[in-house]
Amino acid sequence: MSDRHIENIVIVGGGTAGWMAAAAFAKVLGSQVSVRLVESEAIGTVGVGEATVPHLKLFNDLLGVGDVEFVRNTSGTFKLGIQFNDWGRLGDSYIHGFGSLGHKVGLLPFHQYWIKARQKGIAADLGAYAIHTAAAPRGKFMTSAQDAPAHSPLADIPYAYHFDAGSYARFLRGYAEKRGVQRTEGRVAEVRQHAESGFVESVVLESGETIAGDLFIDCSGFRGLLIEQTLKTGYIDYTHWLPCDRAVAVGCESAGDPPPFTRATARKAGWQWRIPLQHRIGNGYVYASPHLSDDEAAATLLAHLDGKPLGDPRVLRFVTGMRRKFWNKNVVALGLSSGFMEPLESTSIFLIQSGIARLLNLFPRAGFSPVLIDEYNAQAQFEFERIRDFLILHYKLTERDDSAFWNDCRTMSIPDTLREKIELFRDSGRFFRTAEEMFAEVSWVQVMIGQGLMPRSYHPLVDQLPEADLRQLMDGAAKVIDSCVGLMPPHQAFIDRHCAVK
Ligand code: FAD
Repeated sequence: MSDRHIENIVIVGGGTAGWMAAAAFAKVLGSQVSVRLVESEAIGTVGVGEATVPHLKLFNDLLGVGDVEFVRNTSGTFKLGIQFNDWGRLGDSYIHGFGSLGHKVGLLPFHQYWIKARQKGIAADLGAYAIHTAAAPRGKFMTSAQDAPAHSPLADIPYAYHFDAGSYARFLRGYAEKRGVQRTEGRVAEVRQHAESGFVESVVLESGETIAGDLFIDCSGFRGLLIEQTLKTGYIDYTHWLPCDRAVAVGCESAGDPPPFTRATARKAGWQWRIPLQHRIGNGYVYASPHLSDDEAAATLLAHLDGKPLGDPRVLRFVTGMRRKFWNKNVVALGLSSGFMEPLESTSIFLIQSGIARLLNLFPRAGFSPVLIDEYNAQAQFEFERIRDFLILHYKLTERDDSAFWNDCRTMSIPDTLREKIELFRDSGRFFRTAEEMFAEVSWVQVMIGQGLMPRSYHPLVDQLPEADLRQLMDGAAKVIDSCVGLMPPHQAFIDRHCAVK
């Protein structure tokens, strides 16, 4: 490939990935490049993907899109975390919240004191000590209070969203087209490559139109039109660790006010999601096909809806895993074409966002430098694998033995990187985030404890605090959280006031 500047970017696919990429390139790269996006209405988009992590706010901030505009345009709601039901054992429930836990005492994180207090019987459930996990089940929500004192839990309330994926893609399309992105409707029928280098030179549409480019972004979904069907990049399969390979999805009518959290309820051969939007609820059952038929999955899903279904359940098939390379020659795969991990922690859209940010960070000045490509792939692989470990954690730490699926999960072997984290935490509640992995200590701690992994011991410095002070620390922290939650408005009232769909 020549050393010429990258002037023409072609995005194949107009789902969430394609339009997020188009909007970000238009905003950041501006007139330095021309961006064309090809999408086929006949093929359509995957039509799911509606729960997020707090990072999406940063993406919207980059575009200059505020909460009110975003939430109104996507019938969105707010999300403080994910409620996991029946995961550790049938009847268990915990929330993985997005904020901090208690407060740091000296050198140690709060959970170290909590372990000792719990052993002594003077601590409530971990969820009582974080504003997210205490507010979510009470249906309360607000964004950070500007006038709250810096140390108040109300001063820092990170949050994510639930949103309608189709509306978001349409919104981003409008945003991108206004900034010069050219959209072409049509099905790519052929991909042309350079005879020697194998670099993609152009895509040819069924209409006969040829679209040439310097850099191609594969956002074509599971089929991976460029990255796999053309470049044969290869796929690393995670099915032995993340065994679910299908989902059946259906929307239903809203039932009451939307809670500010996603729900993930473990079922016989997988788990069911519930994502509340302003105008409907998104639902799906993610399952392992060797353990459950499509009909059984659909019947279970329909039996556990809170409102009338808004259509027939739709089955989606996938293989959990990632591409061997995310950037191969002059093709970068974003979204489902780059790999897939089930939406248990709502990480797919985050991975699109971080892929876009990584590409912009490593954007070549001229030509395609192997060091930039290698760095991109190394970072992306690291990110995928650490999220993979976090997801496996939920399955591995189950005590359920009521189905073959859960027996397999409980007894499966796991990656060494995960085993080491579990053992360290089991020993004395210690956790160390590896480099810039996505999920921080507070997330891991909530899920490990939530799934029933109680450390045997705690950090020796905890013993410096007399027991009466420990009791006071726990009581005081829970009281502060409780009174802060009391000041928060109901989630629905917050939406009505600021960003209800008109
Ligand atoms: P798609 O939406 O499939 O878009 C592919 C695009 O490529 C379409 O526009 C299509 O027309 C086009 N295309 C394909 N072939 C051609 C061709 N030959 N010519 C022209 N155009 C073509 N993520 C989350 O973050 N949170 C969630 O809660 C969540 N839930 C999920 C649940 C399930 C069951 C699944 C499967 C995924 C979920 N995801 C979730 C992932 C999320 O849906 C995707 O990451 C996101 O929608 C991006 O999809 P995409 O744009 O890569 O692909």
